[in-house]
Amino acid sequence: MKIGFIGLGIMGKPMVRNLLKAGHEVIAYDIIPENVDAVVKDGAVAATSSKNVAEQVDFIITMLPNSPHVKAVVMGENGVLEGAKPGTILVDMSSIAPLASQEIAKACAEKGVKMLDAPVSGGEPKAIDGTMSIMVGGDKEVFDQVYDVLMTMGGSAVYCGSIGAGNTTKLSNQIIVALNIAALSEAMMLARKAGVDPELVFQAIRGGLAGSTVMDAKAPMMLAHNYKPGFKIDLHIKDLNNAIETAHGVGSPVPLTGVVMEMFQHLKAEGCGGEDHSAISKFYERITGETIGD
Ligand code: NAD
Repeated sequence: MKIGFIGLGIMGKPMVRNLLKAGHEVIAYDIIPENVDAVVKDGAVAATSSKNVAEQVDFIITMLPNSPHVKAVVMGENGVLEGAKPGTILVDMSSIAPLASQEIAKACAEKGVKMLDAPVSGGEPKAIDGTMSIMVGGDKEVFDQVYDVLMTMGGSAVYCGSIGAGNTTKLSNQIIVALNIAALSEAMMLARKAGVDPELVFQAIRGGLAGSTVMDAKAPMMLAHNYKPGFKIDLHIKDLNNAIETAHGVGSPVPLTGVVMEMFQHLKAEGCGGEDHSAISKFYERITGETIGD
């Protein structure tokens, strides 16, 4: 199948590579030319704009930072809707606000374009392996049509409900991940301050009830003081903002999310917004004057 792909960052690039490996033809675009070059080397074909992508295909995937980027790419000047034919399917795999997904889908519907919101979890390693968890909102019929393509990038693709449901599911995921990283940092620092090696704590408890995918991925990074993203603090702040706004809109208080948001805000103010979200451990290192890793 010929697939358009817009947004070739940390996640987009490996997702394109998996589509190419599965035998699809990919027409790719990003505002950063080096990101386009990187996938062209692997066999994708470069497009000159989002509109130009839409003119060449009837199936488009977007993988962009946040709601304003997706709105600009789809509804903006030289955007997807200027080039798309009626019947085109747009699968937005970015993590954005559920209300924004609904607004973009409405604009798409007016041009006969069918949209799904299909954010992912698993980060760069699972994007590379093609084992991401994909959570999808929109028409079930369209979901069934694109399921096989989604499964070339994912280990699972679960239909969650009408448009926006994918992103609501993703916000729940992001709350759980952020709080897990903060709990892990707090616990590792307790061990360090009490004189027990955090590396041994990790080895001792990872197979028990406290063990998790987050612990396995993030504890080694904290212990090595390796904060290369991965998933940037700036993007997690974006997700928690969307979570807090959405939660308040539906009357569901999120007090724990608010606490972790302030840790992220502290780190952003200290210039760490571009680091991996495992750098929450730095917040604890700063308030205790002790380090988690050796
Ligand atoms: P990224 O910042 O690395 O990549 C985003 C890409 O979008 C960049 O290459 C940027 O140049 C491009 N872009 C921005 N505006 C554009 C425009 N107008 N036209 C064309 N291209 C444009 O971000 P990422 O880490 O790849 O994340 C993408 C999405 O996936 C985000 O919503 C993020 O929250 C979500 N996500 C990321 C991870 C992760 O671990 N990195 C995991 C799960 C979900």
